[in-house]
Amino acid sequence: MSDTPTNIRAHQGEQTLELIWDSGVVSRLPYRYLRAECPCASCRNEWTGERILDPETVRADLMIEGMEPIGNYAVRIGWNDGHSSGLYTWETLQRLAQDRPA
Ligand SMILES: [Zn+2]
Repeated sequence: MSDTPTNIRAHQGEQTLELIWDSGVVSRLPYRYLRAECPCASCRNEWTGERILDPETVRADLMIEGMEPIGNYAVRIGWNDGHSSGLYTWETLQRLAQDRPA
């Protein structure tokens, strides 16, 4: 059973997504990192897990245009580059928070 966020906040000025987990842990994920790690099939090879999207092509003024909860296990993030097919599960978000480069 993975941790679930009790609150998700998009800080547009800082381009950071803040997640407050049930355990009390707070994760802060930069937009461009999240976008580059988009788990959808056009950004990442479903079978090998290999990244297809080149992180260098992610726009600098990236913003979140919308967030849609998917059941109670994920959130779909709509970016201002027109991409909104990435479903970020809680598990994915936790992994990204842990793997995040300092
Ligand atoms: Zn994607």
